[in-house]
Amino acid sequence: MLALLILVTVTLTSAHHPGEHFEGDKVFRVHVEDENHISLLHELASTRQMDFWKPDSLTQIKPHSTVDFRIKAEDAVAVEDFLGQNRLQYEVLISNLRSMLEAQFDSRVRATGHSYEKYNQWETIEAWTEQVASENPDLISRSAIGTTFLGNTIYLLKVGKPGSDKPAIFMDCGFHAREWISPAFCQWFVREAVRTYGRERHMTEFLDKLDFYVLPVVNIDGYIYTWTTNRMWRKTRSTKAGSTCIGTDLNRNFAAGWCRIGASTNPCDETYCGSAAESEKETKAVANFIRNHLSSIKAYLTIHSYSQMMLYPYSYDYKLPKNNVELNALAKAAVKELATLHGTSYTYGPGASTIYPAAGGSDDWAYDQGIQYSFTFELRDKGRYGFLLPESQIQPTCEETMLAIKYVTSYVLEHLY
Ligand SMILES: [Zn+2]
Repeated sequence: MLALLILVTVTLTSAHHPGEHFEGDKVFRVHVEDENHISLLHELASTRQMDFWKPDSLTQIKPHSTVDFRIKAEDAVAVEDFLGQNRLQYEVLISNLRSMLEAQFDSRVRATGHSYEKYNQWETIEAWTEQVASENPDLISRSAIGTTFLGNTIYLLKVGKPGSDKPAIFMDCGFHAREWISPAFCQWFVREAVRTYGRERHMTEFLDKLDFYVLPVVNIDGYIYTWTTNRMWRKTRSTKAGSTCIGTDLNRNFAAGWCRIGASTNPCDETYCGSAAESEKETKAVANFIRNHLSSIKAYLTIHSYSQMMLYPYSYDYKLPKNNVELNALAKAAVKELATLHGTSYTYGPGASTIYPAAGGSDDWAYDQGIQYSFTFELRDKGRYGFLLPESQIQPTCEETMLAIKYVTSYVLEHLY
């Protein structure tokens, strides 16, 4: 009996993550003080494969910051020796990535189909978009705004009471494949909208007065790949002539200072900006939709993880947006509201100075199209689990994030332009 139980447990857990197993992989956090420390990390990167978790690449490391990166099991001892010998201050955030991968699936929900408290595979999310729209025809309509490189349909949910000339807020999730909490939030948001419309004063007012465009997963190909093959995948799955490397970083692919800073022209890099701005079908789909609805879209919200930040333009430059004072005050108030639920602390500010410079991002692009309220959310956590946030944190994370999103929505409704 015991043997059978063990067998069942092993089968169930390994079924969650076929492909790369990450046994013994470690995630380090290095405290970087000065340029010398940065050169040492460049030296390390020239001899060992480093998967950067925060910042997104080697070139984005700044003095007086921390750097999180994953190292393969076979390199872990050598890397730890290197850090020690060079007196770099570090911690091991994750000592065995495989255990963390298994620990992600800790939801007590037993559902085999779609669940808001679990991470759902793409086919489950796709079926959910159809179901949630058909069950709430007075509030939700589903449309397709394009297809991905591999031919998956990019769905968009329009959430709101029918009406003419309504202002709108556009929100997307799942730009980066491994940031699983992001699509979970878009699904949660839609559920909260239909669950509380007509019961809760604010949501009722929102959906009467405006529409939310919710794009549950932008980078569908990459998201599928994180389930089938490599949980740590970030980019799209597009191929390009002349390179065997796969994928473009969608959040470097927008026409906003494209590839000028904090992005790479090398297709093998995690921050590859693509062969041109909007070279990726997923970028084109989002950009075309927003361009075609510019007269109604008053706010752009894009959901990422991790690091608990609320960022606004610019990231492609250290220049400040025209309404910097207003955006700063709005972000400050929104993160204060978010913290009221569980005390989760967020930092906020313009992207370039708050996190790091990065060109080609969707928030900067949307802002430069004239959308005055443009924010990137980096959800939980601060690195304890990183991209492997356990399912048991989906609910608290989404609940607190709802408070910030609703705060921004109220503000936007009071400041229509
Ligand atoms: Zn991201």
